[in-house]
Amino acid sequence: MAKCQQCGEPLGIGARRSTRFCSDRCRFDWWTDYRGRAQHPTVTCACGRQFVRRNAMHAYCSPDCPERPQASLRRENDRLRQALREARAGLDRALGVGA
Ligand SMILES: [Zn+2]
Ligand SMILES: [Zn+2]
Repeated sequence: MAKCQQCGEPLGIGARRSTRFCSDRCRFDWWTDYRGRAQHPTVTCACGRQFVRRNAMHAYCSPDCPERPQASLRRENDRLRQALREARAGLDRALGVGA
C-alpha cells in the first residue's frame, strides 16, 4: 500500500494513484522541506561536521567552529594576553610591587 511521503501514514484504499500525501498539510510540509533542502544544501565543514549552508559566505558549521580563521585568531589573542599578564606579574614581583 502506498504511504504518505511526509508522515509515512498508509494512504487509504480509495486514494488516487497520483496521491503521495495523506493530506494537504503533509503535501505542504513536504514541499517546504524539499525547497529548503534544494536552497540550503548540507555541506561538510572543514572540521568534519555537517551543516546547512545558507549562503555563499556561510563556510563554517558554527560561529565557534575550530576551523574558523576568526576562532584561531581569538585563541592567539588569548594566548598573547595571557603571556602579557604573566610577564607583567613577573615584572611586578621583580620590582617588589605589592610585596
Ligand atoms: Zn501524511
Ligand atoms: Zn566546523
